This record gives sequence, C-alpha cells and structure tokens, in this order.
Amino acid sequence: MAPAADTAALRDSCGRTATYLRLSVTDRCDLRCQYCLPARPNFLPKDEILSLEEMLFIAEEFVKLGIRKIRVTGGEPLVCRNVSWLLERLAALDGLRELVLTTNGTRLAGQAEQLRKMGVKRVNISLDTLRPARFAELTRNGDLAKVLAGIDAACTAGFDAVRLNAVLMAGFNHDEILDLIDFACARGADIAFIEEMPMGDIGRRKDKDALTADGVLAAAAERYELQPSAHATGGPARYYELAGQKSRLGVIAPYTRNFCADCNRLRLTCTGDLHPCLGHMGKVALAGAARERDAAKLAALAAVALAAKPEGHEFASAPEARVMRYMATTGG
Ligand code: SAM
Repeated sequence: MAPAADTAALRDSCGRTATYLRLSVTDRCDLRCQYCLPARPNFLPKDEILSLEEMLFIAEEFVKLGIRKIRVTGGEPLVCRNVSWLLERLAALDGLRELVLTTNGTRLAGQAEQLRKMGVKRVNISLDTLRPARFAELTRNGDLAKVLAGIDAACTAGFDAVRLNAVLMAGFNHDEILDLIDFACARGADIAFIEEMPMGDIGRRKDKDALTADGVLAAAAERYELQPSAHATGGPARYYELAGQKSRLGVIAPYTRNFCADCNRLRLTCTGDLHPCLGHMGKVALAGAARERDAAKLAALAAVALAAKPEGHEFASAPEARVMRYMATTGG
C-alpha cells in the first residue's frame, strides 16, 4: 500500500502543490547543444555530485511528501554511470505513479528495452533537426544517426509513450516543423515543440522574431487537421490531436502560453540544489540533509523551497538570459 502523502507539505504560497520532481542525475552530456551548453563546459568535479544513494534518499522522502511523478534528466542521464541502479529503485518506490526519462537518444539504441523493463514508463527524446549537417552544427559534432537509431529502438520497446522534443530556433529549424511532425507520425511517437528559453551565458534567444507555438500550429495546419486534446501528462505541454494519426502534437510555450499558474514542478540538480522555478535563480541546498539521511531536515528544507516558489518565470520580460544557469544544470 502506498504511504499516505502529506499533501500539504509541498504546497506553495500561491496554492499550487508540487507533485512532479525533475531529477538531474549528472551535469555531463555527450552533446553540446548550442542553446543548452557552452562549447567548452566546466563540468562539476565528481565530489560535488550527490551519490546515487543520496539521490534515491531524496526521491524517496519527496515521494512521502507527495511527489507522484519523477523525470530523470541531466545533462544526459544515460551517460551517468550506474543510472540503471537508480532507475530500478525509483521505479519501485511505493507511492510513485510514474517514472519517466528525458534523453538525447545517443545511447538509447542498446538500452531502450532494458529501460522499459526497469519500469521507465515514458521517454522524451530530443530531436531538433533531421538534417545530419545541421545536427552536427547545433550539437557541436553530434551524430544524428545514433539518435535516430535510439528513437527507433524506443518506438519499438513498448513504452507507454515516446515523445520527441524539438526546441524552436528561428532561422535554424523553422523549415523543419512539418518534416519533424511527419517523422513522429511515421513512428507513432508524440512530438512537442518548445519555445527556446534564454538560459545561461550563451548568448541565444535575443531575437524578437523567435518561433512560437502559434508558428508551429500554423505550419502543422498546412498538412494536418488539428483538434485541441484533453491529453495531459502532468507537465507543461499542451496537446493537439492530429486527425488520422496516433501521434499527438504538443507545444511547450513558456512565452506565449504561460503555464506558471498550474506549475506542479520541482527541480533537483545533481549537486542537491532544489530549484522551485526554472526561470529564477532561487534554490535550497539539500546535499547536507541527504548526506546525513535526515528526513526531517529534508522536509523542512522542501517547505522553505516551496514557500519561496515564485508566482512565475520572467523569461518574457527580457530577451537576454537572466537565469545564469545552463539548462543542462536543471535538466529542462
Ligand atoms: N540530455 C537530455 C536531452 O537532450 O533531452 C536531457 C537534458 S535536456 C537539458 C532536457 C530538455 O531541455 C531537452 O528537450 C532540451 O532540448 C531542452 N532544452 C535545453 N535548453 C533549452 C533552452 N534553452 N530552451 C528550451 N529548451 C531547452
């Protein structure tokens, strides 16, 4: 029997309750996507990173406090040594309804089936372009073929759902919206387009002509009949049914369809910092409590983070980054 959650424990001052924890297990990644990381990132020294046991302890205590969905992310979670040890134990947590994963797909070909068997219910795979040269440019030398093989493996592994995530970049992949939707439909995968957010000191998203959710819907409507969908996964994506297709089209639009009013998310970095909002610098350090395995202290610190959760992000108020933290740190 699942333990009774203390549902008030993760309520913030705006009346929202956190039920979804995004757990970044590493800051390392085998790609260097230009919107996510600098060309030469300074990855954290190993001794600053929580052990997998400490991550598990925090997750376990947060599930007791009311977390119902955990997304393992990064960095690239599949470059984290022994991540399967953690995934298996997270999947078995009493009270957790769903364990899901976000990956760049480069290592998925050999692992998709094993991940599903471990209890990962759904996977999101990043795919911003279908053109190998563009992919290499965007990721600073990534191999698109590996990602496509990973996507194919995921689509046949029997997950409850596979979703492709494409970050919208005006002047870069604006001409691939339909190709990406077609690619997803051919595999029965969902696809979500994400409005690019200015994160970290990497000088992107300064243009006011940025691609938005409306641009995606207009492009999609050239080929597909769209119907707003009631489908929801407890995250920020808003979905549309594509007539005659199993695949759904999602938009994640922090700028043009602000979703902060029902934000249910908390983000834990691999160093144990709990961020109540992706769009602010505020954080509460959980590493000490995790190292001491002090559940009461952890719960008290979680309450501090929730009390400080802002009403919303401020991405739209300035085109330049104000959040000086790379997306790879908090896992998106
Ligand atoms: N390595 C994994 C991956 O590539 O999916 C997980 C980590 S990545 C930080 C998680 C998600 O954040 C990806 O879908 C990525 O495209 C998205 N992302 C990264 N930087 C972003 C930005 N500046 N704006 C919008 N989405 C971003």
